[in-house]
Amino acid sequence: MNLSTHAAAGKATPTTPSALSASTPTTPTRTVCAPSNSSHARSLTMNPESFFRSELAAWPLAAENFRNLEKASSQAVSLTDSEPWRIRKLLVSHRRASITAKTDPQSIAARPCFLCEANRPPEQSAITGHGFQTLVNPYPLARRHYTIASARHGPQRISGHLQEMARLTREFRDLCVFYNGPLCGASAPDHLHFQAISTEVAAGLTDPRLPLETIDPSDGCKLLRSVCGAVPYPFFIIDSTDTAAIVRCADLLLDSLPQAEPEPMVNVAMVMLPDGRLRTFIAPRRRHRPAVYGSGPGKMLISPATIEMLGTIVCSRPEDFERLDLATATAILSEVSLDEQQFAATIHRYQQLNTPQQ
Ligand SMILES: [Zn+2]
Repeated sequence: MNLSTHAAAGKATPTTPSALSASTPTTPTRTVCAPSNSSHARSLTMNPESFFRSELAAWPLAAENFRNLEKASSQAVSLTDSEPWRIRKLLVSHRRASITAKTDPQSIAARPCFLCEANRPPEQSAITGHGFQTLVNPYPLARRHYTIASARHGPQRISGHLQEMARLTREFRDLCVFYNGPLCGASAPDHLHFQAISTEVAAGLTDPRLPLETIDPSDGCKLLRSVCGAVPYPFFIIDSTDTAAIVRCADLLLDSLPQAEPEPMVNVAMVMLPDGRLRTFIAPRRRHRPAVYGSGPGKMLISPATIEMLGTIVCSRPEDFERLDLATATAILSEVSLDEQQFAATIHRYQQLNTPQQ
């Protein structure tokens, strides 16, 4: 399939936002292509919301999982009261495979990559453009949930791809675009991908009451941090309208974090604020999974990824859902994140790197 041809073809007709729901990206229409191995190959021109509806109409598994998710969302339980940074628990049994995915190199090498076009289900189509393919995530965590996978098989890395994330955030302006690091929740660490999801999972991120402290007040690009004690773990926020400034600031932060292979451990999310600025959330990590992770007695199948760091703790077993209380959720999030000392050291390194040499 010639991706560039499809991408170019998509610049034709603007959407009509008024006819669509609040989560509709105001993007140009683009060509939708079924995977080349599909017996239902089709080429359609439509916007992402129409694409979403078309996928659910053609794909019973996805339709059923989105119906189940709607029910699960209505039964989600808030663990916090009226704090700006909310934590809730969600029971979604169809997430079990993702939560328990083995991501060690041997396991990854032994399975076909489910994000590569040749291995996707025949029912699944894609919107192509900019070297990426937008797919409806058939195992959703919110009422709209897309996976945006690189058109080429290549490792999950944030460096060099923040600009793409910013572009996607502007495109899916009512959704939250996020990135799970290869050791921080990505179930396909071998294939570069982002996800875009309804902001119901990230309510705290856009809450104007969220207390933040300024680290770097530069004009046009502010670096802030969560206030100690107001949230369960420390994270960074970058607010700016300027993509180049966001990328520069985030790259400096990544260089300042404890270094790890293949990259510093992070979860990243981006949303568009009502005034048009992009808000970038960077949650540094020190552990992939908490000590409580497991299926044996006393264990819980909870494996934090960006969604969890943003305040929605996903459970796939009723017993975990029932047992999870605020203290346990806070302990899990805090255990996998940097402690205050490590976080302060990161800020110190950032400030050193950000100071022009004399
Ligand atoms: Zn792949």
